[in-house]
Amino acid sequence: MDGGLKMSNRFVTASEDDTRALARELAADLAAGDTILLIGDLGAGKTAFVRGLAEGLGIDPGEVTSPTFTLVHEYRGGRLPLIHVDLYRLDAADLDEIGLDADLAAQGVLAIEWAERLLRELQGALRVTIQDSGGDARRIAIGPG
Ligand code: ADP
Ligand code: MG
Repeated sequence: MDGGLKMSNRFVTASEDDTRALARELAADLAAGDTILLIGDLGAGKTAFVRGLAEGLGIDPGEVTSPTFTLVHEYRGGRLPLIHVDLYRLDAADLDEIGLDADLAAQGVLAIEWAERLLRELQGALRVTIQDSGGDARRIAIGPG
């Protein structure tokens, strides 16, 4: 975790495309075992951000959906596998109990929506906080988890 977007940074994006571009840029800095904690209200743009991560890793972003009934989605075919977790339906979650393949996560990038619902802190994770600031503007803060 050094250099590039992985250092603490604040951004304002003006569109979903902007947010995806930011996530694409971040994806270039990611390595196996990296975890992205996504924090933000419904409609903030967490899933949009994950689509950008997918694109940046060389995965078809069309594969990335909001996993309404599936808590964990795995997307392969890119530079690294992307494991997408969405905890929206849970009040509190333990990663060991939701069917996450820890070995696969260690080999890929783990992106967790509603990460504030995790019961245990994840060491070394990167936190991406997205706030709706009116219209299509979003404030995005990237920093240590
Ligand atoms: P979440 O996963 O946080 O609930 P989504 O990514 O599913 O949110 O949805 C975000 C919605 O907000 C989409 O409809 C998207 O088009 C819209 N949107 C508008 N402006 C932005 C922006 N700057 N960044 C991301 N999404 C945006
Ligand atoms: Mg979502």
